[in-house]
Order: sequence, then structure tokens, then C-alpha cells
Amino acid sequence: MNKGKLLYEGKAKMVYETDEPDKYLVYFKDDASANNGEKRGTIKDKGIVNNKISTFFFKLLKDNGVANHYLETLSEREMIVKKLQMVPLEIVIRNFAAGSLAKRLGFEEGLELAMPVVEYYYKSDELGDPMLNRYHVLTLDIATIDEMNELDHLAFTINTILKEKLRAKNVDLIDFKLEFGRDEKGKLILADEISPDNCRFWDMTTKEKLDKDRFRRDMGGVEEAYHEMLDRLTM
Ligand code: ADP
Ligand code: UDP
Repeated sequence: MNKGKLLYEGKAKMVYETDEPDKYLVYFKDDASANNGEKRGTIKDKGIVNNKISTFFFKLLKDNGVANHYLETLSEREMIVKKLQMVPLEIVIRNFAAGSLAKRLGFEEGLELAMPVVEYYYKSDELGDPMLNRYHVLTLDIATIDEMNELDHLAFTINTILKEKLRAKNVDLIDFKLEFGRDEKGKLILADEISPDNCRFWDMTTKEKLDKDRFRRDMGGVEEAYHEMLDRLTM
């Protein structure tokens, strides 16, 4: 498989065309950003670790019947994926209060929520990724009501599968962000990545953070936390 034209360079990844019209090559970078791009830096070998962790989760989800864009791992930093028309939403699922939810609702970080919460954010750098409700999504013509129901269903199913696997690794899945795209038939398919960049992982016993919050909050031990997650999942 050959790398074709660079189609898009994002904050964490680059997307290339390939020889095959229905496949993209995703290249995982070490670049890290936080606070809507205000804070920038690099996390050594993050691209390698996130490619591996994402591969692990995409395979796990496929084995559990959740369609996703993963096709093959080409190299340490390169993944071949199914080409999709992305839905411009960030779908956040939360099991415990943290980050913006803790702030907005006045909850202490780490409080377990009575039930999982789903939130939608509009993927728009210009607008700073505002939170949307279902009516906003419909008004913006981003997705239909049936598609929103399907996205919720997929998000909660994925949450159950990830939570269970992580529990066996002594990790609480605090919250995470998903992105979906439509295939040529219009079917919604999980895409992007699942890694410490877009999930909050806490050690169940010590509550130690094993995710990008260590970078966002200048806590140190960032690389070690990413490697620790990879080791726990794959060893
Ligand atoms: P951002 O755009 O937020 O800076 P990244 O640096 O992670 O994010 O860039 C990866 C881009 O690729 C994102 O815009 C994401 O929506 C998009 N993407 C992920 N999976 C696919 C796919 N299967 N098909 C097309 N685009 C995808
Ligand atoms: N998240 C993400 N990308 C974003 C914003 C959030 O991947 O642009 C993830 C984040 O890693 C966390 C969850 O979504 O797992 C909820 O993030 P929150 O709204 O608390 O954001 P914060 O206040 O930390 O920016």
C-alpha cells in the first residue's frame, strides 16, 4: 500500500490517500494540543503508542460486533482505514465527573455518575467546538433523528465493551470522545482513534491519571502514563 496525496493535517494525525480509492492512510504524530489549540507540545512516541492502543481497541470492538474503520496496521505510526464521510460531531460519553462536566455541574472530579452521560460537540475550530443538543444537530443538518438514536446506541455499546475490558486492567474509564463517519451506503461507522489523547483513564486503586490530562495540566510523567496504558492493555 503506497502513501498518496496528503489530504488533511490535523492536530494529532495526518490523513493520506492510498492506491485504493476506498482506503485512507492515517499517520499518528507526536504533536499534542490542549485548550482548543492554545497549549501545544509534543509527547515523545505518542504517535506510536496511540496507533497501537487504537489498534487494540478497534480490534476488540470488531470482535464484539461494533463496525469500525480499522483495516490494517502498516507501520509503527501508520494505520490503513476505511474512507468515510465524517460526521462533524465529537461524541463524549462520561461515566465519572471530570473536566468540563465537573466544572459545569459543580461536581467533584471522580464522582461516579448515576448513569452514563452522552454529550455532542460541533467539530468546528472556528467556533471552538461548542456543545450541541439534539435540536442543534438537527437544525445544523448534521444528522437525522434516526442517526442520532443510532449514534447514542453505538456510543453506549462501545462504552460497555471498553469499560469491561479496562476494569480487568484495573482502570476506570472516566470519559472519552468518539467520532463517526458514513460509509458509501450511509451506514454510521466508528472512526478516528481511541487512545489516552481522547479518553480519561484512571488507575482504579490509586486514581492515578493515565491519559492526556497529565499534559493538559502539566503534571509530568506524560510519556510514562501513555506507555503504562499500552502495557496494561497488551501485556
Ligand atoms: P483534528 O482534526 O481534530 O485536529 P486529527 O489530527 O486527529 O484531529 O486529524 C484526523 C482527522 O481525520 C480528523 O479530522 C478526523 O475526523 C478524520 N478522520 C478520522 N477517521 C477518518 C476516516 N476513516 N475517514 C475520513 N476521515 C477520518
Ligand atoms: N475530548 C477530546 N477532544 C476534545 C475535547 C474532549 O478527545 O476536543 C475528550 C477528553 O479527552 C475527555 C472527554 O472528551 O476524555 C471529555 O472532555 P471534557 O469535555 O471534560 O474536556 P476538557 O474540559 O478536559 O477540555
